[in-house]
Amino acid sequence: MQAARYRIRADILNPAPNGSCRWVRDGELVFGPDGIIVRCGRRGGGDASATRIPAPRGAVIIPGLVDCHTHLSQYHVRGRTGHTLMDWLGSYVFPAEAAFRDRAFARAVANGFFRKLLANGVTTAALYANYRTGAEQALSAAAALGIRAAVGLTLMDRGVPAALRQRPEQALEDCRHLAEQARGCGNGRAWFSVNPRFAPAVSARFMEMIGRFAGSSGVYIQTHLSENPAEIALVRKLYPGIGSYAGVYDRFGLLTDRTLLAHCIHLTPAERRLVSRRRCAVVHCPSSNLFLHSGRFPIEHWSGYRKLCLGTDVGAGPSFSMLDTMRDAYFVNRQSPERLFCQATLGGAAALGLERMIGSLAPGKQADFSVVTIGERAGTSGSELLSDLIFKWDQVTFHRVFVAGREVYRA
Ligand SMILES: [Zn+2]
Repeated sequence: MQAARYRIRADILNPAPNGSCRWVRDGELVFGPDGIIVRCGRRGGGDASATRIPAPRGAVIIPGLVDCHTHLSQYHVRGRTGHTLMDWLGSYVFPAEAAFRDRAFARAVANGFFRKLLANGVTTAALYANYRTGAEQALSAAAALGIRAAVGLTLMDRGVPAALRQRPEQALEDCRHLAEQARGCGNGRAWFSVNPRFAPAVSARFMEMIGRFAGSSGVYIQTHLSENPAEIALVRKLYPGIGSYAGVYDRFGLLTDRTLLAHCIHLTPAERRLVSRRRCAVVHCPSSNLFLHSGRFPIEHWSGYRKLCLGTDVGAGPSFSMLDTMRDAYFVNRQSPERLFCQATLGGAAALGLERMIGSLAPGKQADFSVVTIGERAGTSGSELLSDLIFKWDQVTFHRVFVAGREVYRA
């Protein structure tokens, strides 16, 4: 006998790899008890026996959103204004991150952080945590709440307050332990990542150790690249022998197809060629770039890049909402809503090498999706409906959110 399936009926917005979006009016999503999608399309595919999941009137189903760059430890410093990157780190971020040595505090914040992501329809996130304790708590909280997460340990051994400086050998030991923990939790939905903070905070020796560990263990690598002119000048001073900022990471084997590079605002043509040759993901963080006056991400160089994705960059980005992030990306570069939607879904999935599993709603993929309503829904095409979603953010409600067919959030 066939195991019970589930079906949910609503309009469906689904991204396509070519940067377009398919709108299915009166659609139906059917998935099995294993959380794998069986059908996604127009109503009436003969699955009448499937258990019905109710959806509100006028609801729209969208795939789970993928936030490719955010900082768990910066939860409390959102909206601290008046600075550019380097001052902001010193005034707010470093003191905030130092608090994550405390296990109970780290656990409470991790829980709140992931709940916020789920409440905004984010079903997969790549993030930065601090200290072994902080990353441990993040991995357990993600697994318990059912979100997919690449949890990174922020690595730094210079240029930051003593409380945050790590001994490279100990940090690598922590990485081994956390990679092991990630393998054993979250039913394959949790991953570990090494996150050298950025080149100014990591010595060449540490960088080399991190590169070697990442190469042998296959974990993700997340870092910041070319966000701010003062940061770039500092890298040039600290790594005088290497021609470019991207070249520093490359020297130590940190530019790979498992690497997510946040910002990439001020890259030279040669750096852009290097990043795409190494098939790294490029994470555009428009809200953060606006907030810290870091500069405009030059979309014209990346618009066709398969691994272009979006990140909220909380806390420099003040919002957990990928809809807000898409809206800011529009204001900065005027891309179409369809393209932004693709970057927030399929682009994020591709960035993490998970595009066969998540990023859109299709048979064989995991049923990661949200059921949303838009207060003054007026769109009469997929594009207009997407515009409603992105620009009427104050009227959007995420009613229910599912990861692998399991409900992980309900409004
Ligand atoms: Zn960041």
